[in-house]
Amino acid sequence: MSSTVPLIVRLLASSVSVANRAGKIVRDVMSKGELGIVEKGKDDYQTEADRSAQKCIIAALSAQFPKLSIIGEEDSPENDTEVPTDWLVVDADKEVLTLNCPTNLQGVKEEDIVVWVDPLDGTSEYTQGFLEHVTVLIGISVNEEPVAGVIHQPYYKSMIGGEKKMGRTIWGLKDAGVGGFTPAPPPDSLIITTTRSHSNPLVEKALQVMNASQILRVGGAGYKVLQLLEGKASVYVFASGGCKKWDTCAPEAILSASGGTLSDMLGNRYKYGASVGKPNKTGVLAAANPELYNYALSRIPQELKEALAK
Ligand code: AMP
Ligand code: MG
Ligand code: MG
Repeated sequence: MSSTVPLIVRLLASSVSVANRAGKIVRDVMSKGELGIVEKGKDDYQTEADRSAQKCIIAALSAQFPKLSIIGEEDSPENDTEVPTDWLVVDADKEVLTLNCPTNLQGVKEEDIVVWVDPLDGTSEYTQGFLEHVTVLIGISVNEEPVAGVIHQPYYKSMIGGEKKMGRTIWGLKDAGVGGFTPAPPPDSLIITTTRSHSNPLVEKALQVMNASQILRVGGAGYKVLQLLEGKASVYVFASGGCKKWDTCAPEAILSASGGTLSDMLGNRYKYGASVGKPNKTGVLAAANPELYNYALSRIPQELKEALAK
């Protein structure tokens, strides 16, 4: 069966299963209570969960798809590739495997793909106990464009057949569809979602000009885009260069697949080829539909755009 399913669909289906396993690692590290926090820079932390989840994702995907370029957030020593055998996930999500692959992605080869991995998005929130904000992000780009992605929430609680279930995985493939959640239209009033742990005066200025009825300050790029997908916020505004390509690749792919847009604060789309600069220097602006996106873009003053582009 697998040989008849296009590579991009198999990779997305495997990414769903791998993200589930990485999410279990994130929960296990927290339950053990030894977070092993390392400060990478100002307001920028890494824990044992970030390190192990990334090792799991890269080892499992590269074992199955050896010619992929995979770029993960965390630096790890070249020879540090040994992982427990149960991290080498080989399952693939059955629903994703049945997707109708758009014609232009049917012939994509491993060599054409760059995968951006954020093993734990929202590390500040993870260390501070805002666990529902935490996500695992696997973004798949082809020709520099994010075309597929996975947002896994390790701490999402649900009841299935009378049993408690922990974790859920949201996925999207461009021109094919989204799944793992119930899409909802944007709220009736303008609700902006933004950072809760990386604000600065420019970030606040961009929020002021939106004229919003509410500002939802939550952690992680993945969780903020989920607020858009689930109709809890209208626009994601972040006038700072702090986000990186691994933060936005998967969320952008899923948002695009559901009819939304993610760009920088100037209205330009980011590119996701292997040699691009990692920081999203000119910020993040995203919305669930074109009307909200165009409204938000039109509110941003020229001097704010210039300050970010400097
Ligand atoms: P936030 O919206 O603050 O939760 O950030 C979304 C993503 O961008 C997270 O992965 C953050 O770690 C990262 N990020 C945003 N701003 C910064 C910053 N100033 N320094 C380091 N990482 C940042
Ligand atoms: Mg992140
Ligand atoms: Mg991270």
